[in-house]
Amino acid sequence: NAFVALKDVTHAYGSGDGFPAVEHLSLSIAEGEFAAVVGPSGCGKSTLMKLATGLQFPRAGTILVGGAPVTQPVRIAGMAFQNPTLLPWRTTLENLLLPLEIVEPHRSRLKRERGSYVAKAERLLAQVGLKGQGGKYPWELSGGMQQRASLCRALIHEPQLLLLDEPFGALDAFTREELWCVIRDLHAERRMTVVLVTHDLREATFLADRIFCMSARPGRIVAERVVDFPRPRD
Ligand code: ADP
Ligand code: ADP
Repeated sequence: NAFVALKDVTHAYGSGDGFPAVEHLSLSIAEGEFAAVVGPSGCGKSTLMKLATGLQFPRAGTILVGGAPVTQPVRIAGMAFQNPTLLPWRTTLENLLLPLEIVEPHRSRLKRERGSYVAKAERLLAQVGLKGQGGKYPWELSGGMQQRASLCRALIHEPQLLLLDEPFGALDAFTREELWCVIRDLHAERRMTVVLVTHDLREATFLADRIFCMSARPGRIVAERVVDFPRPRD
């Protein structure tokens, strides 16, 4: 039972150089699976993410998420990017609550049950090592702390699908590996489907159940490997 399925998908940008960003791309990710997509810069990884979440619509091919064709931005998805993109005029906690202000049914509930959502946000912050930091503004946090907060924001509405586009790219090696463990524990606990885009093979093999390798020009999946060797637990 595929949770994310792309079949023969081709997409080109109007303002691009004429080459499709992805071409005849197919892939299938099972529900609850942790998938990684690896490939060189510019091969179409971000485009694949945008297509899977309905931020871009393909020129050709079909895309199903949770069994349904993607016809609008996918609300059951949470996303975190290389750049944490927290709003500077909101505290960290208020940044975490942001998706709830947009996505139903949380939007209507937030007015009545703000306290329970705040408690949930604080629990999430504690899980990623940011206990008690919710009142700080993003610019009072280090890059690694902002990245953790942005991960919490992606998780606050309990998405069935979590998309991570190079979320550890800008971090120092120590913080990065610490966050790998955080993500792995979150996945073990929640069992949401995760798609991680990275050019770090070590990161992919540490985290993912299945690795898709992409080529550039044409941007498509050229290999798929199941990671079934035991990995260290802390
Ligand atoms: P990756 O994430 O693997 O680095 P991208 O999906 O960002 O790759 O880009 C794939 C190709 O599509 C690249 O050639 C890139 O220049 C092009 N591209 C990406 N986004 C746009 C855009 N908004 N407009 C035009 N071309 C784009
Ligand atoms: P990533 O680090 O995810 O590979 P990129 O550096 O490829 O991201 O792209 C950064 C931003 O610039 C993205 O929003 C992408 O859509 C946009 N972009 C990338 N390539 C092009 C392009 N050739 N023309 C216009 N926009 C682009």
